[in-house]
Amino acid sequence: MADSSTHMWPLQEHELVPALRVITTLARADMGVLMLLDATAHLLMPVVAYGLTHSQCEQFGPYSDGDGPFAVALAEHRLVRVRNVWKDRESWAGRARELGFKHAEILPFFRATGEALGVFAILYRANTGSRRQAARLASDCANIFGIALSHATDYLRAELARAQIAKAAQDKVKFVARMSHELRTPLQSIAGYVNLLQTSRTTTLSADQTRMLDRIAVSERILVHLIDDLISFSRLEAGDIAYRFAPVSAEKAIQLIEGVLAPLAIEQRVALQLDAPSHVMVTTDEEKLQQVLVNLAANAIKYSRPGGTVTLRCRDEDDIVSFDVIDDGPGIPADKLRDIFEPYVRLDSASSPGTAGWGLGLAISRELATGLHGSLSVRSEVGQGSAFTLRLPRDGHGASNGTSTGTSTGVSANGNSSNGVSKLGSKGGPMSRGQSALA
Ligand code: ADP
Repeated sequence: MADSSTHMWPLQEHELVPALRVITTLARADMGVLMLLDATAHLLMPVVAYGLTHSQCEQFGPYSDGDGPFAVALAEHRLVRVRNVWKDRESWAGRARELGFKHAEILPFFRATGEALGVFAILYRANTGSRRQAARLASDCANIFGIALSHATDYLRAELARAQIAKAAQDKVKFVARMSHELRTPLQSIAGYVNLLQTSRTTTLSADQTRMLDRIAVSERILVHLIDDLISFSRLEAGDIAYRFAPVSAEKAIQLIEGVLAPLAIEQRVALQLDAPSHVMVTTDEEKLQQVLVNLAANAIKYSRPGGTVTLRCRDEDDIVSFDVIDDGPGIPADKLRDIFEPYVRLDSASSPGTAGWGLGLAISRELATGLHGSLSVRSEVGQGSAFTLRLPRDGHGASNGTSTGTSTGVSANGNSSNGVSKLGSKGGPMSRGQSALA
């Protein structure tokens, strides 16, 4: 059988033979050849034969779909009888003599849409062909075969399309990874020189120069963060993320976030408060946990007003370990609480200077929270602040049902409704003031 990748012929030889055998037997023919149409080349190619050897099968064709009885059968959607092939055009007559058939019947089959798929060539040694009743049954079989073949072709096309989409996603990941590498290399060099100047003992900088350098450093970190978001999102889209679970200290995780974000907080003149009980352990993927917390805390700082406070807090609740990132910034309107978790969604407040972003951070965080078998939720009040909560199962397993608790009925980022009771803000944080909340 010809290569299915070029001709889209989805069935194997052994799957085609039974149909040919049934039709040849019904028509009481001596031999038969199943020919499939290569629509691009306009050629009917012999694919399998009954009563002929492999090489005789190949000898039988190919024929053009515009050729004699084949063209008539395909154009008129009907069985065409050739009563004495030996008297037909030379090429076909010669082949008929060699292969030992005299009478031929061409039975076409089609897709439901009418598109031609191929023909059965039913061959007789004698001059007589099929009787009317047998020809009708053979036609019915050919129709059924056409439907089966077109379904198989559709399935193959869908599989090929799926494979192409998967490959395109992989290519995109590779492209974004390469692009980010290209972007990161000069950024690293900028960071290196900035650091050199900041820590140099031989170069004395004025206050203005120091401030400008600090700004360069913050901008560099923002760019790195943007690039990382792009990479993470394309990898998540491509399903290219592996989770490695191991025991992680919650306190250490929060302290690490502070280390990463302290410069941004200083730049934005936002105070960072940490509240993590020691000895709380959670089995999770440390890198992904940090990625979510950095996303949430960086947002809290970015969108806070100067003089604001961002609190990173961990709560230990039976089999759940929760991380809260609370700010007293502008807050998020209730009707936007669900939208902000969708990719590329940014609210008006995000257009203010110093809040660069693609609108991917929360979409990434939500996916990662689900991958960690946990959930991500938000409660917010315009003008008062926002509180994002990542809830993780302590043992790393848990059902990834996305439910979360809130002081009022709401939705979690992972998509489920909830109406539980939250402990968020119970230690006197900005959310403890009893505002409307979504979880
Ligand atoms: P980005 O920060 O890159 O725009 P995110 O997906 O992290 O993307 O956030 C989506 C949008 O949600 C932000 O653009 C902003 O409008 C809003 N948002 C996120 N966190 C906060 C927050 N703590 N306070 C106010 N608005 C926020």
